[in-house]
Amino acid sequence: MKRTYPDYYDDFVCIADKCPMTCCAGWQIEIDEDSLKNYHKKNIETVDFKHECFFQDRDKRCMNLNEKGLCKLILEHGEEILCNTCRLFPRHIEEFENVREYSLSISCPEVAGYLLKRKEPVTYRTVEDDDVDSESYDDEEQAVYRKLYVLREAFFKIVPDRGLSFAEKAGRILAIAREFQSGMDYILINGDDIESLDVEGAIGADYRPLDITVEGRYELFKVMKKWEYTGDEFKDVLKVTEKALYKASGSDAEGLAQDMKNALSAQGIAPNILTEQILHYFLYIYFCGSAYDEYYFGQAQLAVAACLHIWDFAMAHFKVHGAISLEDIIYFTYLYARELEHSVPNVLATERYMDEHPLV
Ligand code: SF4
Repeated sequence: MKRTYPDYYDDFVCIADKCPMTCCAGWQIEIDEDSLKNYHKKNIETVDFKHECFFQDRDKRCMNLNEKGLCKLILEHGEEILCNTCRLFPRHIEEFENVREYSLSISCPEVAGYLLKRKEPVTYRTVEDDDVDSESYDDEEQAVYRKLYVLREAFFKIVPDRGLSFAEKAGRILAIAREFQSGMDYILINGDDIESLDVEGAIGADYRPLDITVEGRYELFKVMKKWEYTGDEFKDVLKVTEKALYKASGSDAEGLAQDMKNALSAQGIAPNILTEQILHYFLYIYFCGSAYDEYYFGQAQLAVAACLHIWDFAMAHFKVHGAISLEDIIYFTYLYARELEHSVPNVLATERYMDEHPLV
């Protein structure tokens, strides 16, 4: 079994009551079978056994949270009491045959902060052990995964190239993913062998830098209005952003973007490195997983869209407040990831929307 980890994986430490968000607020936490049995035995009153989750209060906060934001279950019973969801978060695992890819979710403020504060590109370490996967996998999906892995390696050469603008990186990645998608669609329709797909040809696909108009950006923004939300905080950010960027007359989007970049640079923050980290993150976690849903181009688009969405929030904030800090961008990043990453309906709505409104 191969296990791959980003280089910062082992450094993560939960900051518990110092966390500005806590992972137990807003989400309905699903409880695994073994934990349910244990909770039943211990007669834990905060468990909704019918729906296999914890009860929430009126503010959608887990009923186990005390006023300091600490988990009462841990305080009373120790860490062993935690269900899989709570024990693992913010760790995320993507599984393929004899390969496990580990990551930390940027919906955790501590992880988002770590990632966006680092200047150097993320690297990965792979360890191999003698374990053999006992799961059974679909051969075709795993053949596609191996191809996607090669594409993602190509992306990982493009993304950290600091000689390229975001528009160039996005343009190349989207062109490669689109070429791969049409090749795969052809193979699936005609029943051809997946191995016949020319991955190197896709990597060499012609591209143009991503050139998205304000109208196009607004279209992209609108997908977030179709999402379900964990609370009002994100809805408020959407309202402010829409009003500042897309409803105000006479906006100079390019001038605003440049002013914000200058404001960040004056604080020693490189805007291109922020988008590099976000793009890299989404490609690492989700691109190869498209082996299971065939939205290869959709997943590449989602990674680019995430950068543009988060950037929109930052620009609106800068326009409204006349200032922007790294902490603001970290906040928008984890807030965005909280709404998108842990909601299957939101991911599906975005994938569908990107299918109907492709970026290139
Ligand atoms: S979001 Fe992250 S830092 Fe905050 S409580 Fe959860 S794991 Fe800890």
